[in-house]
Amino acid sequence: MSVNSTDYRRAVSGGVTGAAVAGRVQLDRACREALTDGARAPRVAVLGAGAGGICATIQLRLAGFGSVTVFEKSDGVGGTWRDNTYPGAACDVPSHLYSFSFASKPDWSRKFAPQPEILEYFESLVDEYDIGDAFRFRTEVTDATWDERAGRWILGLRDAEGSRTREEFDVVVSALGQLNRPHVPDIPGLDTFEGTVFHSARWDHGHDLRGERVGVVGIGASAIQFVPRVAESARSLVLFQRSANYVAPRKDRPYPAWMRSLFTRVPVLQRLYRESIYWRLEARFNIMRRDSRLGRVLQQQFAKQLRPLTRRGLTEEALIPDYPPGCKRILIADDWYPTLLAPHVEVVTDGVERVTPTGVVTADGTERHLDTIIFGTGFRSTEFLSPVAVTGRDGVGLDDVWRDGARAYLGLAVPGFPNFFMLYGPNTNLGHNSILFMIEQQVGYLVQLLQQEVVRGARAADVRTAAAGRFDDEVQAAAAGTVWAEGCSSWYKTEDGRITNNWTGHTTSYRRRLARPDLSDWELLGA
Ligand code: NAP
Repeated sequence: MSVNSTDYRRAVSGGVTGAAVAGRVQLDRACREALTDGARAPRVAVLGAGAGGICATIQLRLAGFGSVTVFEKSDGVGGTWRDNTYPGAACDVPSHLYSFSFASKPDWSRKFAPQPEILEYFESLVDEYDIGDAFRFRTEVTDATWDERAGRWILGLRDAEGSRTREEFDVVVSALGQLNRPHVPDIPGLDTFEGTVFHSARWDHGHDLRGERVGVVGIGASAIQFVPRVAESARSLVLFQRSANYVAPRKDRPYPAWMRSLFTRVPVLQRLYRESIYWRLEARFNIMRRDSRLGRVLQQQFAKQLRPLTRRGLTEEALIPDYPPGCKRILIADDWYPTLLAPHVEVVTDGVERVTPTGVVTADGTERHLDTIIFGTGFRSTEFLSPVAVTGRDGVGLDDVWRDGARAYLGLAVPGFPNFFMLYGPNTNLGHNSILFMIEQQVGYLVQLLQQEVVRGARAADVRTAAAGRFDDEVQAAAAGTVWAEGCSSWYKTEDGRITNNWTGHTTSYRRRLARPDLSDWELLGA
């Protein structure tokens, strides 16, 4: 696809909810001129064909970076929306905001789009932006090693048949995200279970749950969506719940035909609607502050509203969280409490002790006999890139740098790993707004940094240690003032309590920081 600066401007100017545009058009022009004058366009490798990988590929191509290859282990695009096909899967961020600002979809079917529609949206972008040739499916990146002499990355690749090859790239963009590797707890006896076992992110659609005795271990954002569906067909359902959740009303609704048609015909109305959602969600960051008054009020109201359910056979422990709202993700559902009250559903709050060939035994010694166990136990979120062995300058491994927890400058880069960037990296997850917003900011920043490299004739950019240290200190100081630092377990932090996953402020402040690279924070190698 041939794109000029005008197309580029149109593509990046996504309004308040898109990436910042200031100064980008001039830089874009200078980069295109440099490339026409014989400057070498970098070869870019993107790891992962989910939302981040798709966004990066589109924006890099629009900016004139023709050589982009996306390595994807599975055989299609969509990432988390391809993996998570459990019944009831849907996004808990309204669809008009859970989409890219530069690729709006005016005709979302409902407020919270179901998984197939979201997957279809991401798939449609591949055709719309003509980037299909960038993808190398069924190919896993096993390792990435910086070659100081050549100033390039050497990637180790393994295809589905197990054949291994190596290829060189100037830039590596990891778009593996935080929630791609299912976590199944190491419960004694699990391998002896004679029934069916699967994780929510690897749903066994070939297995019929009708009439079965089903147990669900782990009740979080995924379980809250699939449990009501499973309850419709299972004979009995036991929910092994370690902590109660805050579950707020979802108020989902289909969008009427007239609204979809209006948004299609008058795009500005859709943009205004999208922005109204953004600001409404952004205001919720106040709940994420430690000791927030709003949080305390919510906590009290929540307990008051749920207490009457205890008269209908549910315990307080099963219903009322013992931590402030926001410490874990606040969930939304309209069918959660009715499901808990169903006569064939039991909530068990005694810890799971072991699995037997026929069921699950809890700490009080009771065994529940089961046909199927479903794990809704989330993902190995704090390990970030660990399946890929990344080795930077002087042979230093990323795993060693991150021994005490992952950290990265702006969530994007680590000193000693030149031209190695991460999307949805450390400290960029949100508990209150759309992650696609964050990804767009990161991609906008990354494109500008690569454009600066081309314009200045640099081989690579390495973030300065001092800049990365300052950023990390600031983020960790801010993290101490958030509700996530309070006493609840969550996937936002390591076992030692370091908050490695969440952005610790408003998304507006993240957008401001990423509007334009501050080149004094970067060492431009060979410039
Ligand atoms: P999750 O929210 O992390 O929930 C995992 C659950 O498993 C928790 O209830 C946890 O208990 C429990 N658990 C973990 N280890 C356990 C063990 N050893 N024994 C017993 N229970 C255990 O995972 P998830 O539901 O898959 O969701 C993860 C994230 O994915 C969400 O926070 C969200 O960001 C994303 N997601 C988003 C959507 C969406 O609509 N946008 C939907 C689904 C998921 P504790 O709470 O006690 O630790």
